[in-house]
Amino acid sequence: MSTAPVQTGSKRPSRFVEWLKTIVFYELLVGMKATMSHLLHYKPITVQYPHEKRALPDNYRGMLGLLRYDDGTEKCVGCDLCEAACPSRVIRVVSAEVPGEPTKRYSKEYYMDMTRCLFCGMCVKACPVDALGMSQEFEWAVYDKRQLHLNKQQLLAIGDRSFPVREKRLELQHPNVAFFNVSFGHVPQKPN
Ligand code: SF4
Ligand code: SF4
Repeated sequence: MSTAPVQTGSKRPSRFVEWLKTIVFYELLVGMKATMSHLLHYKPITVQYPHEKRALPDNYRGMLGLLRYDDGTEKCVGCDLCEAACPSRVIRVVSAEVPGEPTKRYSKEYYMDMTRCLFCGMCVKACPVDALGMSQEFEWAVYDKRQLHLNKQQLLAIGDRSFPVREKRLELQHPNVAFFNVSFGHVPQKPN
């Protein structure tokens, strides 16, 4: 059995008010009020790029770079973890033994095809020695996309200019690492 709809307490405008709103184009006036208010309180938000640049947030994910320790040694140990973690197959690492130190490896060649990069940061997270960093560089528009296929020297150059503050070598940060690392030729004394 159907029941009659219950009337709510809200009042509908009278037919005269509705008629008056129609003949004075009330909705149009409300819209014009917003437009006039914007015109009278206008503040430009356009940034005159490239003469003006906005400050980027600290965690901005820009162009990737390879990092070095404070003595200039490359951090990368050629482990390939960044290559495995990358969902977009940007990275190609060719690793090799450090000459004269058969238990140590480094990246002999390192390539990034930045036309494919999503700037997701997963390679940075995957690196066990923090050898990768995301800089704040974003002005990388080029006419020839082959210029975005970067080699190791180009990536190290980005790291050098974007991350001038460098860490000490791992062996010096954590003496135990060196103590148990048979490949470290000059084992520092363990503090007592
Ligand atoms: S930021 Fe993401 S897509 Fe770009 S190289 Fe790293 S893992 Fe690959
Ligand atoms: S950048 Fe890091 S994760 Fe990638 S090969 Fe080098 S050490 Fe391994």
